[in-house]
Amino acid sequence: MSKKEKLAELKKKALADKKLPLREGATNLVFGVGNPETKILFIGEGPGYWEDIKAEPFVGNAGALLNRLLASIELKREEVFITNMVMFRPPNNRDPEGEELAAFAPYVDGIIKIIDPKVIVTLGRFSMAKFLPTARISSVHGQPQGVTWGGGEKELTVVPMYHPAAALRNGGILMQIQDDFKKLPAILLEIKNKTQSAKIKGEQIRLL
Ligand code: URA
Repeated sequence: MSKKEKLAELKKKALADKKLPLREGATNLVFGVGNPETKILFIGEGPGYWEDIKAEPFVGNAGALLNRLLASIELKREEVFITNMVMFRPPNNRDPEGEELAAFAPYVDGIIKIIDPKVIVTLGRFSMAKFLPTARISSVHGQPQGVTWGGGEKELTVVPMYHPAAALRNGGILMQIQDDFKKLPAILLEIKNKTQSAKIKGEQIRLL
């Protein structure tokens, strides 16, 4: 089965999972979008108003910023995969609660397992805490963190970043997330031990 087919199957399972919280107030399940063959997986927090309507992550104002940040390293959103820690919109965009995060975790883990990315970029503190429960985003943003995943099965590089919505509210955070995105091509290249390459933008990421 291809990664695309496996993701479609996992989405079907989530749609049919009557135990998933937050379904009642939501319009759509927002499972994830992008290229299943990508090396970079982005994980946000949860769907907002427009994501709930359009059944796609990061399609509102924060999504427009994410698209611009991706464009700054010559990537399109279609080339990466984007998902969230919870897949139904929390009422009034409140923070997801512990039990809600736990209920969606098997689906987020399933996406990680199927895509098998080289790098996971966490957007905001909820997805960062999944991999780095004691980290402070102000100390670690933009710095690649080695994480052992899946009971020691897989070594992952997690790059924590501020949430784009926070960057829209705060000019200082916007500058930091812009700088952090610019580091991504080199981080990917370093993983491939090709840091000596002079041209380190989108072309190289696609070749990895
Ligand atoms: N914020 C998120 O964390 N995820 C989205 O999909 C949209 C906004």
